[in-house]
Formats: sequence, structure tokens, C-alpha cells
Amino acid sequence: MGTTARFPLVVHYCGNCSLPIEYCEYHPEHDKCKQWLEKNLPDEFEKILNVNDQLDEEGAEEKKRQKRGGKGVVKSRKKEEGPKVVNISRAPRGKKKSVTVVQGLSSFDIDLKVACKFFGTKFACGSSVTGDDEIVIQGDVKDELFDVIPEKWPAIDEDFIEDLGDQKR
Ligand SMILES: [Zn+2]
Repeated sequence: MGTTARFPLVVHYCGNCSLPIEYCEYHPEHDKCKQWLEKNLPDEFEKILNVNDQLDEEGAEEKKRQKRGGKGVVKSRKKEEGPKVVNISRAPRGKKKSVTVVQGLSSFDIDLKVACKFFGTKFACGSSVTGDDEIVIQGDVKDELFDVIPEKWPAIDEDFIEDLGDQKR
């Protein structure tokens, strides 16, 4: 049968206020009660201290939760997959020259190396993969790309190509 029930409990009475020690904290001379308890019933004193500590921690935890809740749901920092788009911009290179930066081809499942080679051949100029999803074409071919890209990859409609303009130096 139930071994968890430990009744009847031994009731300890406080030597200071003569109340059961559980009620000591309501006594005006609680401090004196604690002193008595610590001296005469150190085990019970420990227990009561521990209970109070736990309550404090729970209280603090509750406050934290409320504070967090007040801020609202924290948005995930994970970048959501937005609409696919190819970004084209022009960047200065040297005093007179410009290069064209193409970003976003990967989102259309296009092999950047293949695209890079294609651009190099098409425009007869240098072209290199410069990032995770970035190709730099040596030369200002931005306007041409709006025709060339949809022609080469029909999945990329001209509407999917965004002109970011000139990059600042
Ligand atoms: Zn007491």
C-alpha cells in the first residue's frame, strides 16, 4: 500500500512562538523563530529554507516568462525563401571600367560554373564565380543580360530579373 503517505507527520512546535514551525513565518517575531529553529531543529530549519528558495526561483522564472511573453513571439532569424529573383548590378572597376554582378542564379537551379562560362563566351570577356551565388562579368553587360538570361534560361522571365543599378564604390 501507499508508501508515499507519511502521515501522521511529526509536528514540531516553535520554542519561540509555540506555533507549529510551518506557521512561524506568520509570527511577528519570525526572525527570533528562525534563530530558535536553527539552533534547536537545524534539519527542519534547512527544509524550510529550501522550500522558500524553491518558491523564490519559481517566482523569478515566472517573471522571466511574463517578460518574454510581453515581447511577443520572437521571429525566427532563419531567412525565409522569398520569391526567386536574379539581381543584376553594375560595379565600378578601375577608373573607367565597370563589371556586372549577377546574383540569384542558384535559386533557379542553375549551375554557376556553367552560367559563368556561358557569360564569358557570350560577351567575350572574363567572368568568374565570386560567391555562393554570385558571378562577376568583366564588363558592363547589364542591359544585355535582360535579354540574354531569359533567352538562355527560359525559366527566368525578365520579370524575375531585378536591376539593382550601380553599386557605390
Ligand atoms: Zn516560531
